[in-house]
Amino acid sequence: MEVESESETIIRRLYQITNDYQKGFDIQISQLIMMGLERFDLDIGILSRIEDNTYTVLHCVTPEGVELCDGDTFDYDHTYCEITCRSFGPVMIENMGENDQYATHPAYTAFGLESYIGIPIFIDDEIYGTLNFSSAIPYPRKFKDIDIDVLKLMASWVEVELIRRHQEERLHALNARLEYQAYHDALTGVANRRSMFKNVHLDIERMKRARGKGTLALIDIDHFKRVNDRYGHQIGDDVLKRVAEALKQQLSARDFIARFGGEEFVVWLPERSTEDRAALVETLRQCVNKIEVNDKPITVSIGACDFDFDCSNEVCEQCDKATLDEIIHVADDNLYVAKDNGRDNTVTSCWSTTSTAS
Ligand code: GH3
Ligand code: MG
Ligand code: MG
Repeated sequence: MEVESESETIIRRLYQITNDYQKGFDIQISQLIMMGLERFDLDIGILSRIEDNTYTVLHCVTPEGVELCDGDTFDYDHTYCEITCRSFGPVMIENMGENDQYATHPAYTAFGLESYIGIPIFIDDEIYGTLNFSSAIPYPRKFKDIDIDVLKLMASWVEVELIRRHQEERLHALNARLEYQAYHDALTGVANRRSMFKNVHLDIERMKRARGKGTLALIDIDHFKRVNDRYGHQIGDDVLKRVAEALKQQLSARDFIARFGGEEFVVWLPERSTEDRAALVETLRQCVNKIEVNDKPITVSIGACDFDFDCSNEVCEQCDKATLDEIIHVADDNLYVAKDNGRDNTVTSCWSTTSTAS
């Protein structure tokens, strides 16, 4: 009866600790180790990681005077856990110095730990590390079967939790990758159309409140179809990547670039003076000329739309009513004019006025 109630108490404690997942793994593992120390009447508790010949302390609870920290590493051969891992199961030693088998073990010589109870932690059938408890003082009693049961229960939870955490990390990484893919163009690495609508729309609403101003430019590669037709899709793809990179190089952190469609990019330039933005748009147009296909420079045509959400501004008095779609529409109309003008040029107008060629 006595043993039964003892195990009930242990299981309840263990359940309390493991079920308290809001606390997080680090706190749970510390509590688990402390419970083990209390249960086994020992004073050093460690969850270790074993890789190659290195024993790393992942979590430890130690008494005052024992200088052991998380992250400390030891030569694996010089730990009792080497015995535990070698036996693929729990190991208990009450009095190391008197143990015929282990008194000469390098761990005893190195650390002088007299009592020890430990169990290997397995992940995917491979040894991950150990959960172990020890003390420099010889153990005054014999470890019991129930001690082994407790140790096994603890180890099972650690194993499940480590696997779960590992899967969670993989899931987070996968989610991050999916999110990245959802908002970036796979070929050029710049933002995609969806990302552009989300980001620029939010920026427009913010700028309306802040009475901001800016320019949206549509940049379309001239006669790009010819590049594909003459040199193949692969070279075409390469040109697209290099154009995206060249454009990106000209921009600062507050600017935004997205691939709008096949060979067309959107650049969003908030704030600065109209002249500064116009100068930057010209730089964008010219920077692609350094990309050559068969010694011929690539050129782009640009349609841009300036806007100013300051209602007192006479030029753009209606701008605060502008939507992203309308701003893009003005830029697109200007792009057509730029193409009509013979390509390799920029046409800019303000959202509420008629387009003017530059
Ligand atoms: P314009 O000066 O009038 O803009 O002429 P253009 O040839 O650039 O324009 P057009 O719209 O006639 O052709 C665009 C071409 O871009 C057609 C399409 O095959 C190509 N394109 C679109 N997306 C990709 C891509 O991802 N890779 C490659 N290599 N080509 C693409
Ligand atoms: Mg084109
Ligand atoms: Mg086009």
